[in-house]
Amino acid sequence: MTYNNSFSAGSAADIYINTPVNRSFTYKIPEQMNLLTGMRVVVNFSGREMTGFVSAIHNNLPEGIELKDIVSRIDDEIIYDERIIRLAEYVSESYLSSVGEALGKALPSGESSRSRPRASRVSHIENSRIDLTDKQKSIYDRIMSSGKKSHLIFGITGSGKTEIYMSAAIDAVSKGLSVIYLVPEITLSSQIHARLYKVFGENLIVYHSQLTQNQRLANWKRFYKGDAMIAVGTRSAVFLQCPKLGLIIVDEEHDSSYKEQSTPRYNARRIAFYRGETENATLILGSATPSIETLYAAERGVIELHKLEERYGDGKLPVIEIVKLQNSNEEITPRLKMYTNRAIKDGKQAVYLLNRRGFAPFVLCGDCGCAVECPDCSIGMNYHRGKGMLCHYCGYSSDVPLNCSACGSESILKLGSGTQKIEEIISKEFPDYRIFRLDQDSARKKDTVYDLLDMMHKREIDILLGTQMISKGFDFHGVTVAGIIMADIGLNMPDFRATEKIFSLLMQLSGRSGRGESEGRVIIQTLNEEHLIFDYLKRQDYLGFYREELKIRKLINYPPFTRIARIVIRGKSEESVSQSAELLTIDMKRLVTEQYSGIMVLGPSPAPLSKIGGNYRYHIILKGKRLNELTAFVKTAIDSFKSKAVYIEIDIDPVDML
Ligand SMILES: [Zn+2]
Ligand SMILES: [Zn+2]
Repeated sequence: MTYNNSFSAGSAADIYINTPVNRSFTYKIPEQMNLLTGMRVVVNFSGREMTGFVSAIHNNLPEGIELKDIVSRIDDEIIYDERIIRLAEYVSESYLSSVGEALGKALPSGESSRSRPRASRVSHIENSRIDLTDKQKSIYDRIMSSGKKSHLIFGITGSGKTEIYMSAAIDAVSKGLSVIYLVPEITLSSQIHARLYKVFGENLIVYHSQLTQNQRLANWKRFYKGDAMIAVGTRSAVFLQCPKLGLIIVDEEHDSSYKEQSTPRYNARRIAFYRGETENATLILGSATPSIETLYAAERGVIELHKLEERYGDGKLPVIEIVKLQNSNEEITPRLKMYTNRAIKDGKQAVYLLNRRGFAPFVLCGDCGCAVECPDCSIGMNYHRGKGMLCHYCGYSSDVPLNCSACGSESILKLGSGTQKIEEIISKEFPDYRIFRLDQDSARKKDTVYDLLDMMHKREIDILLGTQMISKGFDFHGVTVAGIIMADIGLNMPDFRATEKIFSLLMQLSGRSGRGESEGRVIIQTLNEEHLIFDYLKRQDYLGFYREELKIRKLINYPPFTRIARIVIRGKSEESVSQSAELLTIDMKRLVTEQYSGIMVLGPSPAPLSKIGGNYRYHIILKGKRLNELTAFVKTAIDSFKSKAVYIEIDIDPVDML
């Protein structure tokens, strides 16, 4: 049998498939099928039809092997090139997935519709002048002239970071370079989209999960071809391909939604940094409360730091008040009630934060508000009915204390989830006001969110209740009061980042208030008004808080002084989950003594959220000085561990420890 290179018959394609097996597979290209690298296909894999990503084409078939035919071709044109394979390899190595799984996350999954999309590159940018203040201008100039690729704009809320981003985007597009603009929430993307559209018009695409698959594919293609030069989107937009990347903006870079929560658990911020370095593009991160890791990197000069310390325009910083809750049953303190009434009588609005995420029962001193911490891990311990106190990092357990270790009080409160029906209570407290709720559940219903935001802008809402979501960059000019119902819940989460997260959340929420001409007021209700963070918060001193937090991280060896990996073992049977976790830990500890002395193994212990969707969950926490040693260790340990009864999740640099 002989082959002729000019015939596609007898050709084969290397194809990546979204499966945990980390290699490409070779399939035969059927006669008549005109296939190119950069197209997606349907293949038969283990008895199932799956999407495949063609990475190479050979004009000769391997001998002695019977190859399966490709079932069909999805794309009739190239939608990606080998740069995305390199990027998927990076994701695969960094987050321990297969390249196929990484490509499954990176590439759109829609099918082309027949109608031809409006094409044609927009040749000019309209209204392309952004007025910058002197301070904004000097930061912009420094970014443009700097030798560094990566920048952090550390600017208080309302200081006008967006104008700098937009100026940099205009500059890139006018030079023929593409721009990716990342935002943490879809709802935010619509707000920024409106501003960008005024400047970039049809040159702008959006890219997020609320588009249909086919819309995503259509937008992906326009960006890939350079028919659109700027993309605004959420985390997955970091993978968008384009002719030549010039700029990536990561707004609200501290936000945990940049981290993907299923395999591969990549962080878009890290991918953005990598792309900036490897594709010679500028990266601008921005936040009023940068993550400790990013700020630390900036202080060491890995990223160039730019500070923006005044509010833009007439906006003033709000006054922050810490108000002690008399007991855990008090929901609305008289101060919060008074300021809320005053604001609404003036035609203004209030936002209330209910911090309910990952709420596990814990024990708190009713007098001083101190919680029980694990002596080894320095994180809050949780209360388990009938079992006492448990550390969800190392498994350390103790009895429920009879007295508070800080003040000796015998008033020990057990706070559990579902004990407070806060929304009803607020409605009873303010029967005449229009009260609405914005949280993850309502956010899933797309129109609800837009309706709520619209109503908020039209002042048809008096009090907006919400979870973390309401703190994310919304620009409500009518809000003059922000209330935090119980700050203790966030402070006592079993997460080494609990303090950082709650501090950032409260600062961000403060930033929602007083954006218009009137002064804002933030009422933070807590049982523990002595907590260290409140001093920094009152002064709105994020940097001071950062230095304090950094000391603690160093002392107990948490990021940024170490890297963390989290292994979650889950399954239907609690017994096999706990046994597997135990066995895996024994294996890991042996590996540490034999080969990986730089790794520390904590656990196993039940995860703080010990059962989700009928699955029991245990976790093991690993610390290592060097990331490559840590990933190598995890890979070795997991590869040799076989269990059919449980499923293992690997999370490198986890942001969620629950
Ligand atoms: Zn106490
Ligand atoms: Zn512990």
